[in-house]
Amino acid sequence: TVGAVAIDSKGHVAVATSTGGMSGKAVGRIGDTPQIGSGTYADDNVGGVSTTGHGESILKYCLAHSIIKLMEGGMDANKATTDAVNGMTARLLNTAGAITLSKDGDVGIHFSSKRMSWAYVKDDQIYYGIEQGE
Ligand code: ASP
Repeated sequence: TVGAVAIDSKGHVAVATSTGGMSGKAVGRIGDTPQIGSGTYADDNVGGVSTTGHGESILKYCLAHSIIKLMEGGMDANKATTDAVNGMTARLLNTAGAITLSKDGDVGIHFSSKRMSWAYVKDDQIYYGIEQGE
């Protein structure tokens, strides 16, 4: 997956998510990536999410929208991302990752897989990592 979340100068949230899918996937499989609420979600009133990982599990859990719902309830972007990704993995026994940006510019990053490359720019600083705990 390659995913990106951004807010423009007018406060509009945009998300893009792209994937090659899973290896060995069935012919005609669509997967989670293009499905709004699973691989991708953007709401100017809350924020945006892009997800990666086991698509069938992400679909069942509506992972991107699950994160947004937690944020609507007042949770910050990083805790919402962590709780929803871990909740999906606990429930469906497969891994995922997500990047989240709140409408106020708070960042959430979490993955239950071993690695997920991520990066973001905030206040002209670049942050990036790949392993857990970075
Ligand atoms: N979520 C994608 C899929 O299941 C895989 C990925 O790129 O993370 O199709």
